[in-house]
Amino acid sequence: MLAGQPIIILRENVERTRGFEAQRSNIMAAKAIAAAVRTTLGPRGMDKMLVSSSGDVVITNDGATILHEMSVQHPGGKLVVEVAETQDDEVGDGTTTATVLVGSLMEQAEALLAQEVHPTIIAHGYQLGMERALAILDELAITAGFDDRENLIKIAGTAMTGKSIEAVKDKISGMVVDAVRQVATETAPGIYVVDEDDIKIKTQVGDSMDDAELIRGIVIDKKRVFEQMPDAVTDAKVALLAQPLEVTKTQVKSKIKITSSDQMKAFNEQERESLKKLADQIVASGANVVLCQKGIADAVQYYLAKAGIYAIEDVKEDDMKFAAKALCGSIVNKPEELNEATLGRAEAAEEVPDADLTVISGCENPKAVTILLRGTSQLLLDELERAVYDAARVVQDAVEDGKFVVGGASVETELQTRIRDYAATVGGRAQLAIEAFANAFEVIPRTLAENSGFDTIDKVVALRKAHADGAKYAGLDVYTGEIVDMQKAGVIEPQRVKTQAIKSATETAMLLVRVDDMMITQGGKPGAQ
Ligand code: ADP
Ligand code: MG
Repeated sequence: MLAGQPIIILRENVERTRGFEAQRSNIMAAKAIAAAVRTTLGPRGMDKMLVSSSGDVVITNDGATILHEMSVQHPGGKLVVEVAETQDDEVGDGTTTATVLVGSLMEQAEALLAQEVHPTIIAHGYQLGMERALAILDELAITAGFDDRENLIKIAGTAMTGKSIEAVKDKISGMVVDAVRQVATETAPGIYVVDEDDIKIKTQVGDSMDDAELIRGIVIDKKRVFEQMPDAVTDAKVALLAQPLEVTKTQVKSKIKITSSDQMKAFNEQERESLKKLADQIVASGANVVLCQKGIADAVQYYLAKAGIYAIEDVKEDDMKFAAKALCGSIVNKPEELNEATLGRAEAAEEVPDADLTVISGCENPKAVTILLRGTSQLLLDELERAVYDAARVVQDAVEDGKFVVGGASVETELQTRIRDYAATVGGRAQLAIEAFANAFEVIPRTLAENSGFDTIDKVVALRKAHADGAKYAGLDVYTGEIVDMQKAGVIEPQRVKTQAIKSATETAMLLVRVDDMMITQGGKPGAQ
């Protein structure tokens, strides 16, 4: 008789959570992750200091970086982290916004579940709300063309605010915009595409942040290998070599058994000849600059210097590839393979005085630029680099789409207002879910106000009133607490940052809310809990 005997269908090491408990678990995870990053939102957000298990320290305000370093284990939580990662991959900014938005959508869902609104109705309402939100964004978006340098600079600036680099924001914003415009390709009239790999960001510890430079060309963090070489050459013809400029042991030494001093002399002579030949081949090719990925033997350095050639050894593979692209040359293994076609070309190559840097400028391919950042510490430079990267990405978004929206919580407040109006026209239970969706956007003004030290209720109410009165660009001035026109204040962001954040946050919330059964196999992967 089976009565009373449980039927076991799951393995013993599977932990099962069902029904309300499963929903609650995912809601809690989403809220916890959102709470972890929300204090960093906006220009007055705080930074986090993260220490990895190997002891590396990162100080950052960047949502994606924080979540990456946190190594979240909860399965629902991992999906939320993925929202931030996708946001980072797709648009390069808005990671905190997207994460905070999922948290808020899940919080709203929690309240709906408590009112016994069924998960499928919630998901349906969220879907309708999202479609409406994207349509409203289209309506609100303002056109900014490729030539609109001023607005592009504002977009870059908005992406960089709050990243402890305020002092140099304007200068660097301009550099980023010029860099992106330089590498953009017009594929059809008015349509641009940008390959982000054409922009290289280099950092150098030492000088002040204000010494950042935009270089129309490449920068290699090495100086010439030998003092006797020229420190600059013009009309550069660049040999790109992957193999060492040395005589390898197997080529000579193992074959020779030295028994007398004459033989020793002969051997040295032979080695010297081989090395000279390498240098001669380079000279014969017409090159006056050598970038070698490996080492250059002293004798070769000597002959190259004699021929007035500027050479660098141990160039990183990454830099070699970028150089090949920028200089329109190709990387070869041996000097004998050098010729007109494999040599790269640029107007000049020169060493930067007092720095271990070589700059090759006026490259054959004008679509290669380097942003050279300087700063007093590596920690600072890392954060600056992340900020510049974000800024380059948003300018790319704006150049490619030609559309921006107004930030400082203005667009979120407008969305909340308009989607609530829309919900009222729908009626029934779906109305509740659409309203909840609309209200989820309030997390942005609330968090911006909170992070800036203002009374959240006051500011949210004031913002709502301004929007109800028709001020669709009204947002929060995070420095004074006043409600101002954010377009006039220059706080603008690419439309793509918001559409992506809304899409992936909503889709993830819809996915999570429908889960009512979780089966977690214990001890599967290492580190799983
Ligand atoms: P994210 O990771 O989402 O990009 P940020 O910390 O960069 O997070 O904050 C972005 C938010 O800060 C956006 O809502 C943006 O509109 C707002 N913001 C940026 N600059 C300003 C500003 N000067 N005044 C008010 N809000 C701003
Ligand atoms: Mg940002």
